[in-house]
Amino acid sequence: MRKTTTGNVLSVFIAFCMIFAMVPFIQNASVNGNGSGIVAAASTSYAVSYNTNGGTGSYPAEHIYFNDSFIVNTQKPVNPGYTFKGWGLNRLSDNKWYAAGGVGWKTSSEIAQNNYVLRIYDPGTELRLGDSWIQGETTSKGFSFVAQWTPKSYNIAYDLNGGSGTFSTIRTAMRETFTISASVPARGGYAFKGWNLLRNSDGKYYVAGVGWLSSGEISSGNYTARLYDPGTSLTFGGSMVVDGIDDSDFTFKALWESTAHVHSWGDWETTKAATCAAEGVRSSTCSGCGEVRTESIARTEHDWDAGIIVKPAKYYSSGVRTYTCKICGLTKSSPIPALNVALVTPAKVRVTSAKTSGKKLIVKWKRIVKNTKGYQLAVKDKKTGKQKYINVAQGRKTTLSKTVKKLKKKKTYSVRVRAYNVIGDETIYGPWSNVKTGKIR
Ligand SMILES: [Zn+2]
Ligand SMILES: [Zn+2]
Repeated sequence: MRKTTTGNVLSVFIAFCMIFAMVPFIQNASVNGNGSGIVAAASTSYAVSYNTNGGTGSYPAEHIYFNDSFIVNTQKPVNPGYTFKGWGLNRLSDNKWYAAGGVGWKTSSEIAQNNYVLRIYDPGTELRLGDSWIQGETTSKGFSFVAQWTPKSYNIAYDLNGGSGTFSTIRTAMRETFTISASVPARGGYAFKGWNLLRNSDGKYYVAGVGWLSSGEISSGNYTARLYDPGTSLTFGGSMVVDGIDDSDFTFKALWESTAHVHSWGDWETTKAATCAAEGVRSSTCSGCGEVRTESIARTEHDWDAGIIVKPAKYYSSGVRTYTCKICGLTKSSPIPALNVALVTPAKVRVTSAKTSGKKLIVKWKRIVKNTKGYQLAVKDKKTGKQKYINVAQGRKTTLSKTVKKLKKKKTYSVRVRAYNVIGDETIYGPWSNVKTGKIR
């Protein structure tokens, strides 16, 4: 591989002469109608073309008449990995280059042997195509501005990634060949696998045949970052600066693999089966070292029976049902909701009259058929608030009555009635009736 040294203008120049010599050119120059040996006339035009010399850019050729002025194309070509220096001028008919410092047209070998310096033309420079351009050249093939490039320089540092060793940063440039240090870094408990190449500006790794990918893209796409071995010689090429990123530094990052034993566990085997009463145990064995690991197996579910009622539900209290596990005999209880008392509650009684006769109060009310076993009268001394209850059995007539005896003179009594129902040991009362009063005279 050819080596170029940054700042050595001549060697760069030679490099471009070589590149140029390989590029065939299409000539658009006008024909000098006077034939050879005749000095150029003002009516003669010359094709002035551009050769980006590995870069990119659009540069249409121009036709410039002798002695006319023109502007060097103002656009700068681009070439990843290189800095544009300017244009060198090549005369196509004799393949000579214009050398600076009044030297004039020389072949590339003459320039190299005499340490001449190629004249560099900046974009936008105004020039006149005069006598100095012709200087005895009479075949009138025209001129080409050839882009001159300086390779950019790059640093490639080493990231030992937890290891140790002495590694100096590599300084290289586009198309230069460099060698990765032959030294191998060290790290306790790890084996060195090689170097991954990291582009510092975007944190991406080089994947052979793919390009630059983030570590996330590498793992999701199942790629492998390229591994570089110690002592490998590489040429810094265009693949390093693809994606237009041509001014980043780079890092060789050590890739390590743990040398610690990683268990290779076999399938789980049940040592003790779990039941509803107790957890079980299972174990597996490492095929590498024979170590056994164990863990518990969760208890199984109890198998409950249908349950028995140990306390039946009533209208004013809930009941209890007890279940027993058919496997282990464990019991559990759950409540049975209270019965729906609304279904067995008597309706409200309507008292039709409460009349006095002597020391008696005769109370009459309408019979309630449904949910009724009897009635309860509440007779209250309106002055003292004292109250007594009298139960009356259910009767057959539509209107029922009760005579309350032995009341006191000069007192006023109020009376109200409610029906009641009896189911088992529970008495269920309906709502109180309207209130009637009677005065004993
Ligand atoms: Zn093991
Ligand atoms: Zn059980």
